[in-house]
Amino acid sequence: MKKLIVGNWKMNGRAEHIAEWANFDPILVTEKVDLVICPPAVYFTDLAIHLNDDVGIGAQDCSMRDDDGAFTGEISATMLGDIGCDYVILGHSERRQYNGETDEIVKKKATNAINAHLTAIICVGETLNQRENNEAESVVKTQILGSLPADSDAENTVIAYEPVWAIGTGKVASPADVQAMHAFIRGLLKEKLDNGGAIRILYGGSVKASNAGELLALPDVDGALVGGASLTQTEFLNIAKSAR
Ligand code: PEP
Repeated sequence: MKKLIVGNWKMNGRAEHIAEWANFDPILVTEKVDLVICPPAVYFTDLAIHLNDDVGIGAQDCSMRDDDGAFTGEISATMLGDIGCDYVILGHSERRQYNGETDEIVKKKATNAINAHLTAIICVGETLNQRENNEAESVVKTQILGSLPADSDAENTVIAYEPVWAIGTGKVASPADVQAMHAFIRGLLKEKLDNGGAIRILYGGSVKASNAGELLALPDVDGALVGGASLTQTEFLNIAKSAR
């Protein structure tokens, strides 16, 4: 299975920088690595024009509504599929924290994404307080069981384990803790779904070129979800290269 490296630009970027960011030879990385970039929705078209077709484009969210209608500001999974998006990040901790997204909402969005033939990247992860109280596994288990649609499989779903305390903080979970949580998640997926063990599990939380090699070499780490470091093209590509 190829490693999957996903860049999440969050609410960053400007049209004038997109052509330069997208200007690289994908052969450098895509033979052994799947690459996906998730820009703010307003930049999809600009990025798609400049990026090689071998690199996937993803959204950072989609609506929980499945039909068109009077839902001002919403973008449906169907619309994302319509303009050529391949992936959508769902249940990122920032959306859980700032937009009150529950597991139930994430599951509904993931169902819409799967129905629209997108791959849902479902994010889970514990806070520092929960880790210190030895609740990390139970929190992640609840999130996975509550957020994963019953028809998830390795084609339509990816799990991103992102400890909240490691996102954007420069603190990275130790390789031993990452491997232990990924093995735990793998076990849950195997139990819950036929062939669930084949679902890719990404690590996210302050991944950089300098720590990516060690994290991506762990047996149950199938790739990375990269925030801040994806804003710099060379840093992001160096992360992807270390996954080869
Ligand atoms: C993220 O936002 O998904 C993330 C992992 O951010 P960072 O890499 O900046 O910690």
